Amino acid sequence: MEPIETDLLVIGAGPGGYVCAIRAGQLGVSTVIVERNRPGGTCLNVGCIPSKALIHVAEQFHIARLQARDGGALGISVSDPRIDLAAAVDWKDGIVSRLNSGVAGLLKKAGVKSIQGEARFIDGKTVMIRSEMGEQRLTARRIVIATGSRPVELPDLPFGGAILSSTQALALTAVPRTLAVVGGGYIGLEIGMAFAKLGAKVTIVEAEARILPQYDTDLTKPVAERLKELGVRVMTGARAGGHAKGRLNVETGGGSERIAAEKVLVTVGRTPGFDGLGLDELSLAMSGPFLRIDEQCRTSMRDVFAIGDVTGEPMLAHRAMAQGEMVAAIAAGRPGGWDKACIPAICFTDPEIVTAGLDPEAARAAGHAVRTASFPFRANGRAMTLGAETGFVRVVAREDNHLILGLQAVGAGMAELAAAFSALIEMGARLEDVAETIHAHPTQGEALQEAALAALGHPLHI
Ligand code: FAD
Ligand code: NAD
Repeated sequence: MEPIETDLLVIGAGPGGYVCAIRAGQLGVSTVIVERNRPGGTCLNVGCIPSKALIHVAEQFHIARLQARDGGALGISVSDPRIDLAAAVDWKDGIVSRLNSGVAGLLKKAGVKSIQGEARFIDGKTVMIRSEMGEQRLTARRIVIATGSRPVELPDLPFGGAILSSTQALALTAVPRTLAVVGGGYIGLEIGMAFAKLGAKVTIVEAEARILPQYDTDLTKPVAERLKELGVRVMTGARAGGHAKGRLNVETGGGSERIAAEKVLVTVGRTPGFDGLGLDELSLAMSGPFLRIDEQCRTSMRDVFAIGDVTGEPMLAHRAMAQGEMVAAIAAGRPGGWDKACIPAICFTDPEIVTAGLDPEAARAAGHAVRTASFPFRANGRAMTLGAETGFVRVVAREDNHLILGLQAVGAGMAELAAAFSALIEMGARLEDVAETIHAHPTQGEALQEAALAALGHPLHI
């Protein structure tokens, strides 16, 4: 096939890569994007979107089952709800397909050339693209590595058969009777809780002393309580061994146990997706298993950039997108570097956890004298009308000038507060800015204003 020359080559069309390519195209940079699978990457095809679709289905089914069981606390009666997971997966796949076409269309609209195939480095300016059509050589002035990540596999629990990665769990067409989830982090809890709501008997096996160890215990306590209500068993300080005859071997401080597990979902983190990329040809500097980058996402080789999950934690779609947008601007000759005040994170558990900026401990560790205050949803009218009184909003601010350093919340529907949280931190808001802003009533967002008022010493509704 004819060799291609371009200004910018983006390898991988996940959220990092496709945003980078779209923005570069918009800025007039001649851009090619190469993707070996479908556009949208992990996030769109087997990550963010499918998992949130499954969580929604599970929540709907769970509510219906609660109404059937409790005789309808809201005056709604439902009898014998059933779940057809195959139909739900079809619905989810339909959303994914629409988004696949959407991304392909956006790339085209921006004037980006999309190639389906696997890219392998020859040198820092050249890749070979292998596809069903054959091999094609591509030379680029600048190259962006956006090849994402894949799930970590445990030696005793290789993927296949009853041992599932998140990708396989999101494609199940029947709810397993028993499910062991190894790793109580983001994915394990989001998907594990969803399957518990769909009717599986779920056990979480977490190596650390508690679930979601990346969050403080105030934030995770409501999630731990909900797991208990759902009948999910949580084994902490626990390590999974082999799986045989529908049972998983689990080692804890107290000895070993064989727990019932028709399926085992392994979610113990993700590792960079370098397979087939020929990265050895470049000898790039690494930071642990990830590519080392500077504040412009440059690797140690001139004009080779890296964005998204290949650059390490936090492995989040919106971080990858922001990096992609920045690199596109740099490729178009604009000045710029990473100057974001925060990267919000949301754990779509029940209840949802959202964090932006520093939590109280991190703020103190960074040398700040802080004041911090929370406002509980049990004192929020809107939360009561939603039957969602669990949780709180917390603010962390500097003691001296009241600059907001961090905002956190746990509660139903909290994901939607992430936009406000990051905007406030990005804009350098102070407690008074939030306290004196009119927050519409009745909304859960009023808890944010009340937390700021509480930090100033005069909450109104508690
Ligand atoms: P990816 O999305 O992994 O895309 C990389 C692309 O590169 C892939 O399409 C791959 O096929 C392609 N590729 C790899 N090698 C080559 C090659 N040699 N040639 C051509 N193409 C190649 N993040 C959130 O922010 N919110 C969430 O709610 C969320 N939920 C998640 C749920 C699950 C179950 C999982 C697994 C992840 C979730 N994430 C979430 C994380 C999010 O999916 C990733 O952070 C994000 O997809 C990273 O984007 P990326 O562009 O770096 O890489
Ligand atoms: P994670 O790092 O969130 O959680 C992994 C968990 O597994 C940790 O709690 C860890 O202590 C535990 N663990 C590690 N080895 C273990 C072992 N041998 N036995 C038992 N437990 C073990 O990783 P993840 O859940 O796989 O998610 C990967 C990445 O995907 C995350 O870093 C996150 O950035 C991203 N993600 C984000 C979202 C979101 O934004 N809502 C959702 C899903 C995934």
